[in-house]
Amino acid sequence: MTDTKIIDKEYVAGTYNRFPVEIVSGKGSYVYDENGKEYIDMGSGIGVTSFGIADDAWKKAVTEQLNKVQHMSNLYYTQPCAKLAKLLCEKTGMKKVFFSNSGAESNECSIKVARKYAAEKKGAEYSTIVTLVNSFHGRTLTTLSATGQDHYHELFQPLTPGFVHTPANDLKALIKTVEANKVAGIMMEIIQGEGGVLALDGDFVKGVAKYAKENDIVLMIDEVQTGNGRTGELYAYMNYGIEPDVVSTAKGIGGGLPLGATMLGEKVQNVFGFGDHGSTFGGNPISCAGAISIIERLNEELLDDVKKKSEYVFNAFKDMKEVESVSGLGLMIGIKPANKTSADVLKICMENGVLCLTAKDKIRLLPALNIPMEALEKAVKIIKDAILA
Ligand SMILES: *Cc1c(COP(=O)(O)O)cnc(C)c1O
Repeated sequence: MTDTKIIDKEYVAGTYNRFPVEIVSGKGSYVYDENGKEYIDMGSGIGVTSFGIADDAWKKAVTEQLNKVQHMSNLYYTQPCAKLAKLLCEKTGMKKVFFSNSGAESNECSIKVARKYAAEKKGAEYSTIVTLVNSFHGRTLTTLSATGQDHYHELFQPLTPGFVHTPANDLKALIKTVEANKVAGIMMEIIQGEGGVLALDGDFVKGVAKYAKENDIVLMIDEVQTGNGRTGELYAYMNYGIEPDVVSTAKGIGGGLPLGATMLGEKVQNVFGFGDHGSTFGGNPISCAGAISIIERLNEELLDDVKKKSEYVFNAFKDMKEVESVSGLGLMIGIKPANKTSADVLKICMENGVLCLTAKDKIRLLPALNIPMEALEKAVKIIKDAILA
């Protein structure tokens, strides 16, 4: 084992079952380990490095800002934060943005907005948040509570109260759940990522949006993983033509630097007043400068390209008899091998120079949005061979 691996095992808290690879450098969709072995990166840091490793435009934006000012308190104005907020609102129709540092924090903000809106509009007892079974919303105690998977909850009791879970794709059950509680908001992912790359039914998504609107319930879409071009639309909810009240995102927006964003729609745009929420690092000028370079490039041409590459991957796997299912949208894809565990396929891929992710029993692919076709073809072939091996 290299020094890094030995030191890490001894001194870093044991929360990550790391793969036996140390990544030391990379460029675009290629990364290199401590021995100089090359890998095609089909995970992009769980959908974080949207334009790949050390992407030139992002690097330029980040280093230019680094040479100006790396941080100021949110007590002062800084240009990248203001500019990014404007860009996000113009591209989505949302009205205001709160910046934080991570996905969990972006969801915490959504929850606070929903609670305050409902408290003022309907009464403080309207505090319950409805989320879906098998969802994933983060690791803080409150977002863990929002997460609809019991195995994350064990041994961390008591969790934050005020969350109830209802099955995905069952509108009747959701309405029943809402009627049985005093509900502030509904939060859901358009594609359950950690839950196994499961896209919600379009009819369910539209039904929930309609019901939430009619009943003045705050609809929060967790786009931490699905956002920022990942599904071939700027945000995944745009695939279904709905208008959420709150959209939270993180992962891919920062291109590799920590950044969370919670976008507020018309209904809730003025819920927060001075002192209602805050973050020391949120809206950091360097993270925001990098994010502007990411969001600016998510134009129609790029999104069409994501859709084309998606189709290529779906077609490559969908008719294999060794593949039970292919799921997801855009470049957020889950492949369920019929006769092998996802962990076994991942291991073979790694040996053969492709880094994949898993989500439950699926191989999960989240390559950089601009992965070159040649790299994608090569990776697909290696993954196919691993499934057949
Ligand atoms: C990753 C993820 C989170 C948590 O994001 P962190 O940045 O790790 O806090 C929340 N929701 C979804 C849908 C995610 O995929």
